[in-house]
Amino acid sequence: MDRVRTRIAPSPTGDDLHVGNVYTALFNYIWSKKHKGKFIVRIEDTDRLRFVPQTEARILASLRWLGLAYDEGPDIGGAYAPYRQSERLPIYQKYALKLIEAGRAYYCFCSSERLEKLRKSQHERKLPTMYDGHCKEIPLAEARRRASVEPNVIRLNVPEKGETIFSDMIRGKIHFQNAVLDDQVLIKSDGYPTYHLAVVIDDYLMQVTHVIRGEDWISSTPKHVILYWAFGWTLPYFAHLPLLRNPDKSKLSKRKNPVWTSWYREQGYLPEALLNYLGTMTWSMPDGRDKFSLSEMIEAFDIKKIKTTAPIFDLEKLSWLNGQYIRELSTKELASRLTTYLPKGTDTKLINKLAPLAQPRMKTLTEFTHYLGPFVAFKPVPLSTQEKNITREFIAEFELLLPWKTQQLELTAKKLVTQKNWKLREAFMALRQAVTGEKIGLPLFETLELLGKKEALLRMRQAL
Ligand code: GLU
Repeated sequence: MDRVRTRIAPSPTGDDLHVGNVYTALFNYIWSKKHKGKFIVRIEDTDRLRFVPQTEARILASLRWLGLAYDEGPDIGGAYAPYRQSERLPIYQKYALKLIEAGRAYYCFCSSERLEKLRKSQHERKLPTMYDGHCKEIPLAEARRRASVEPNVIRLNVPEKGETIFSDMIRGKIHFQNAVLDDQVLIKSDGYPTYHLAVVIDDYLMQVTHVIRGEDWISSTPKHVILYWAFGWTLPYFAHLPLLRNPDKSKLSKRKNPVWTSWYREQGYLPEALLNYLGTMTWSMPDGRDKFSLSEMIEAFDIKKIKTTAPIFDLEKLSWLNGQYIRELSTKELASRLTTYLPKGTDTKLINKLAPLAQPRMKTLTEFTHYLGPFVAFKPVPLSTQEKNITREFIAEFELLLPWKTQQLELTAKKLVTQKNWKLREAFMALRQAVTGEKIGLPLFETLELLGKKEALLRMRQAL
């Protein structure tokens, strides 16, 4: 356990780091830190059709924003570099040839037409669609000769009989009948490895001790296990985490939930709140607490205590937790975090004054813009006759008022409301709308004080 090495191996095929990846990254990070080990990022960019050039940089930026600092990775290097699979092609070639040599893999020359026909006929006969081993029996010398001139792929030679068994740290022993495992392509016709070959070679060469990833990879694992055995390598520990779900229990998807980390950042979620929330998905603190820091999680975490029930990712719960985190920031820290969400040049003094007032009300940092609105971009709204009458009376009272302070303003306003027998809510709403143009916002009398007597009265008069 003193040499624990974990990794995440995102594929740069989407916009950014997926929240599902953040969730697996969290557990990998926690597990490595718990054992004073290393946490690695490897970019799995072998799917050239789905490759998105800008995404790797976004993934790494998101990890940094989250505070999941990695010890080795494509941009910082490390003892097992390179950490980008597209830069490791000769390594995969070398190992694939070793497998061929040992009869654990074979060249396949089947055309896409033949494979398509095979798929169709298996589909019609309601059989599992998998390769039929057509090229398996080609003698090696002949296959080698053909491979030098004909397009080909390299396939894994899965034993026809028997079982492949591996142990999962969360789920215990998992069995697969070899008969249902496809002779997986290992090297594609473009010379790139498939995920299956590359992941095994890299996890081995990078000395990854624990492969912690989503349960959607369970069905791939027996193929990996067969590869480890074919190479004569010791298996890493496997742990497959239950996948995050939408509130309707379907697999977390773009259509029902925002999935990219950048969305959460842009909306003003705090990284520590997002990580805390993801930490509660399949695991709980021994004392049942829902709110905990990363270091507390490292301290208390036990991989064996991960639950296999489907974790529901609920944006509302995350927002609630985010609000709790916002409330705990010091005013200084809050103001500094808010700055990144505001247009350049926004008055810092104003931010500092408004931040503590907005703090108890915000669920996300971007909500601050709404509270700031009346102070920087006032838009008057038309008032009803009744609201105008109320405003007129407030003007008369406030004109004489000194000092222009929250307490005095509130006292004066309340006195007037009683005197006139108005409904407090209605009267204050009229006043609020006259001075802010909004129905909801920061506490009314603090707002009036901050606006200043001149500006507040000017707005009230304009409202008439
Ligand atoms: N490249 C895979 C992914 O996109 C990695 C899966 C694994 O962790 O083995 O998630």
